[in-house]
Amino acid sequence: MSRITSAYHQIDTLYHHFHLALFCSVFPQIKFYQKLKEDAFFIGDLGDIISKYKTWCELLPRIEPFYAVKCNPDPVILQLLAHLGTSFDCASKDEIESVLKLGVSPTRIVYANPCKQKSFIRYAAKHKVKMMTFDNEVELDKIKLLYPDAHLIIRILPPSNFKVQCDLGLKFGCHPNKAIDLLEKAKFLGLNVKGVSFHVGSGAEEVEAFSAAVKEAYNVFQMGLELGHDMTILDVGGGFPGQKTAPICFEEVAMVLNEALDEYFPPESGVRIIAEPGRYFVASAFTLTANVIAKRMVSRDNKNADGCVEQCVGKDDEPAYMYYLNDGVYGSFNCLLFDHSHVAPSLLKTTRNKIEFTSSVWGPTCDSIDLILEDYLLPELHVGEWIYFEDMGAYTMCASSTFNGMPKPKCFFYCQEDQW
Ligand code: PLP
Repeated sequence: MSRITSAYHQIDTLYHHFHLALFCSVFPQIKFYQKLKEDAFFIGDLGDIISKYKTWCELLPRIEPFYAVKCNPDPVILQLLAHLGTSFDCASKDEIESVLKLGVSPTRIVYANPCKQKSFIRYAAKHKVKMMTFDNEVELDKIKLLYPDAHLIIRILPPSNFKVQCDLGLKFGCHPNKAIDLLEKAKFLGLNVKGVSFHVGSGAEEVEAFSAAVKEAYNVFQMGLELGHDMTILDVGGGFPGQKTAPICFEEVAMVLNEALDEYFPPESGVRIIAEPGRYFVASAFTLTANVIAKRMVSRDNKNADGCVEQCVGKDDEPAYMYYLNDGVYGSFNCLLFDHSHVAPSLLKTTRNKIEFTSSVWGPTCDSIDLILEDYLLPELHVGEWIYFEDMGAYTMCASSTFNGMPKPKCFFYCQEDQW
């Protein structure tokens, strides 16, 4: 039985089994199931995050993970990761503030946004968050003015010939051929460039993207050293797979990356190696469950001989169904637009007619862009049924809105005792 099925059918068992009591004492809002008659909600498996952390330490022992807060800034996750010992990649003043509030030392934060608001740089300076990335000249001028002591990491463009889910190189990263100009300017301004960073793209789909980027970073690192910068940091960014259905596996990435690091930045080089994983830590830990709040039967669109679409339901035609869930593209499924992701539904009810119908699944708002699944084969569902979606922890709830007054799903956490 899947996690979520047991969560539903055996609420009491779940409560004891997964020791929700532990969290109820910390988060009193988890009073919970009585209220959950139909609201969409997330279940977060903290044990999954803990085991990801252990795997990281085993397979990438030379790389310090700085969790990318943007990916899922839930305070429970931040607290757990801070406690486990990860450091943090922050993109803004607010993210820095929420990490500092946990008592994390500013030395465990990299401000990894190459284009920063001036007041945010001032905030970083005030709170001694020294490590920050840059990829352009204007940023160097701003930093010279506002935080000349900062420890700078130049972000370069990784080679672009690899498949990725989200290409961040469209927005950030200086071309390695232009790095020399930035390094010279930093030297001229008396700024401290301490290292090189890259991001192969979020949701990398080819492991070689990592080794190719390390090689590129090595060349820029050497340029920095030749110019007299005290280069001591390599930041290999994010892009690590995190969902169960990822096209590449973490073990393979680790193998390829370790080999590249041993070749270009061997332990005896003394270079500190950090990374900014987001998706890796949280994607698989969260399952979203939504309720079928409405449905309608429609005729399937049939194309006639002229190619025109006509609506017809003859005696041989199967019906098609439209279902409406209480979470959608303006909510957690914003990942379909912003994260270029795909989602796969699972059904809770196991005893049902096996016949499947062409179906579309929609969110709850009045907008027609709010489409979650199109032309999808599903057995007939009924109002009040639950549909759940695994692998929903990354870039989902962090970017969701309450458009049309639709509430955001609450998140409930559990952890198996042997993993806690
Ligand atoms: N670091 C930076 C600068 C990013 O922009 C991102 C994602 O956008 C990440 C790290 C996290 O990437 P991922 O979730 O693919 O590991």
